[in-house]
Amino acid sequence: MCPQSDNEQPTCPICVKNEKADTLPPRDRAVVVDGWRVAHDARSTMRGWMVIAPMRHVESLGELSAAESASLGTVLRNLTQAMVSALGASRSYVLSFTEAVPHLHLHVVPRMPDLQHDRLGPGIIEYQAGPPLDEDTRDDIAGKIRSAWPTD
Ligand SMILES: [Zn+2]
Repeated sequence: MCPQSDNEQPTCPICVKNEKADTLPPRDRAVVVDGWRVAHDARSTMRGWMVIAPMRHVESLGELSAAESASLGTVLRNLTQAMVSALGASRSYVLSFTEAVPHLHLHVVPRMPDLQHDRLGPGIIEYQAGPPLDEDTRDDIAGKIRSAWPTD
């Protein structure tokens, strides 16, 4: 249970969405697999900036179970492969801060082959500034990620 619960209702925004994962729009549940939910980031100005979070409330990578740790590796691989095949990415960047929302989440960003020089590496965070993508665009991209998700 989410430790931020009040009257057994989670207040953590990720736990709130995890509880109703089956009814979320595509942008918030591109894929739900093996204890992880993959969503399009709501704040990014970059197409395909995804966030993965465990279905269980943990606040650190160190709190994951052995099974969750193992499935995280597979989810990271599969998401990167989906970004390559569906979005044309050359690979992915992975970041995790878990500061604004205290539920572990990892940002997985498509490293596009034509990325501007000033956006390489840490410069990628500039895509968190500015008006975010609209919901229809995020739904569309999440659908493409889902369609390209490896099945092995
Ligand atoms: Zn939570």
